[in-house]
Formats: sequence, structure tokens, C-alpha cells
Amino acid sequence: MTRLQAVLGALACAPMGKPRSPKGRARETLALLANEYPGTAAELCALRHSNPFELLCATILSAQTTDERVNLVTPALFARYPTAADLAAADPADVETIVQSTGFYRNKTKSLIGMAKGLIERFGGEVPTPIEDLVTLPGVGRKTANVIRSVAMGEPGLPVDTHVGRLSVRLGLTTETDPVKVEHELNDMVPAAERGSFSLRLILHGRRVCDARRPRCHECVLASFCPSAGIAGRAVR
Ligand code: SF4
Repeated sequence: MTRLQAVLGALACAPMGKPRSPKGRARETLALLANEYPGTAAELCALRHSNPFELLCATILSAQTTDERVNLVTPALFARYPTAADLAAADPADVETIVQSTGFYRNKTKSLIGMAKGLIERFGGEVPTPIEDLVTLPGVGRKTANVIRSVAMGEPGLPVDTHVGRLSVRLGLTTETDPVKVEHELNDMVPAAERGSFSLRLILHGRRVCDARRPRCHECVLASFCPSAGIAGRAVR
């Protein structure tokens, strides 16, 4: 056996090292969570919808409540107001009645009708694709815009919510806490086509395993390289 063959053999048998850089940890996280939570961004999204307009309505309603709660009210909302034109002309009292159980229903109704009016007045009744246009609509921030782009349009978009922010810090992908800065840092590490599904997988993992107060590191597939394994919830937010 030549010296080169011996070295190559030893390398082949050596255990994989821990990823040491944020980019390496992001790559490993991407692969392991794709295995844990398979599917496309559209398949991973729990908000029921059949087009970008419906997802926009559902995402506005999802603030401060659960996806399940939103899914209980959207069938009636979409049946009564199937298009932006219908919702733009809606009686606010009627919309409030339909969405009441999602909480903050007066503000959400204002956002829904304002968003629909914005679509009619400035975008021909269609949901625009550019994030710069989406965020001009009432009730639509960067997080919501990225949900619409990645889930309903198949465009790059990495929504950063509380779970994505928390896990990104715990996993040592970023030290930033501002959602827009976190989004930009993650965008540099995650391929454009996988940004939406990456975000949704982090959200699922945050809900099921990496809880804010009591992370279950002992059952986490990321524990072998997570810098916060065993200390998150105490030392790390
Ligand atoms: S090892 Fe613990 S802190 Fe790290 S991602 Fe998993 S559950 Fe969260």
C-alpha cells in the first residue's frame, strides 16, 4: 500500500468532524431537518389556501394565534370573499364576525380590507411578486411577504419569526437578533430555492423540539454540533 493510499484510507474511516463555521452548521442543519421534516415549502405550510391571495389573508390572520385556529375561520372567509375585489368591498362588521376568534379581529379586519384595496388600486387585483411591493400592503411585513413568496409563488423567501430567530442563535448561525439582519445572514448560507422550506423546518423544530424554555436537546438530531446543546434555555435565549 502506498503512503497516499494509506492516508486516503484513514480519511475515509475517520468520523465526520463537527461543522465549525456558521455556514457548515447551516448546511448540516439543512440536511438533517430536511430528513426530519420532508416536503416542499408549500407542503410544509400548515395554513390552508389555494392561491396567493388566500395565503395572504391567512398569514395576516395568523398573527398571535395558531395555524389551526386560522384554518377554522378561513373557509368561511374565502367562500364569502373569494377575490381581492370582493374583500375590498366588504362590510368590516361582517369580516370582523368571521375572523373574531383569531383575536385582534378589528385590526386584522382593517389589514385584510386595506390589503385587498391595495391589490385592487395598485396591482390590478393580483398579489405582486416583488417583496418591495408586498410590504407596501397594509398588514404585510417582511415575514409575511417572504411566506407568500416562498410558499405560494415558489420564489426565494426566508421568513424569520421568533422560532427561526431563536434557533439561528442557538445553532450559532448568527449572533444577530434583528429579524431583517438574521434573514440576510441566513440568505448568504442557504440556497435560494431552499430558503422557504428551511425557515418552515426551523419553525417546526422550534415548536416540537427546540422549545424556548425547555429545549429537548437529548432528542434533537442537531445536538452533535449545536453549540447550545445542553445549555439552551439557561444560558441562551
Ligand atoms: S441541541 Fe438543543 S439547543 Fe440545539 S437545536 Fe437542538 S434542542 Fe435546540
